[in-house]
Amino acid sequence: MGEKTKIAVAPEIQVGGSLFSPEQFAIIGAITGTDAEIEMTPFKQLYVEVPLDRRDAVAEELKLAGLEVYPPGSTTKSLIACNFCKGAEEAGLEAARILNKAIAGIETPSPLKIGYAGCALGTSEPLLKDIGVVKMRNTFDIYVGGEPKGLKASIAKPLLTGLTEERLVPVITAIIDYYKENAKGKEKFGKFIDRITLDQLKQIAG
Ligand code: SF4
Repeated sequence: MGEKTKIAVAPEIQVGGSLFSPEQFAIIGAITGTDAEIEMTPFKQLYVEVPLDRRDAVAEELKLAGLEVYPPGSTTKSLIACNFCKGAEEAGLEAARILNKAIAGIETPSPLKIGYAGCALGTSEPLLKDIGVVKMRNTFDIYVGGEPKGLKASIAKPLLTGLTEERLVPVITAIIDYYKENAKGKEKFGKFIDRITLDQLKQIAG
């Protein structure tokens, strides 16, 4: 048997949440083969094992079926969004999709999770993510440093409030770029913020 690799697969960001169609599941099963390992990750991506030499062809086929394909490992995960229960417009579906396109799959020192909630109820748990975006009426608040794992679990702290939709992508990408450029080795994002301080990150992002 040839060498295997993993790809991360997710449905598009949509009203209703992480919804796969039966056809999409059938295609995943059909093109990966009967002995492939398919793992459901805690960050709403499927890790799908595929033959290394067919990686690109499989990715193309999955994209044709309307799925999104990302690299696994130390990257920004695709946006962990809510179900947009308040409707596409009020919950900011378009803003979330644009943000996802800008940030998903960027190589980072340690895996980076970015959450998005369409209202302050925050049912996608944005304050437990490295970076959390919460839509508040017509603007967005940004939180950083959420850590759900371990005995030192912590809630993300507010970084910026009242951001317009246009500023979302520049601000989040500035934070990611700064993390990439200044992290020590594989330093986790939460530890990185503790070291550089929130005030400094505010200056970079603001
Ligand atoms: S965060 Fe708000 S808009 Fe999004 S699913 Fe939860 S309650 Fe609905």
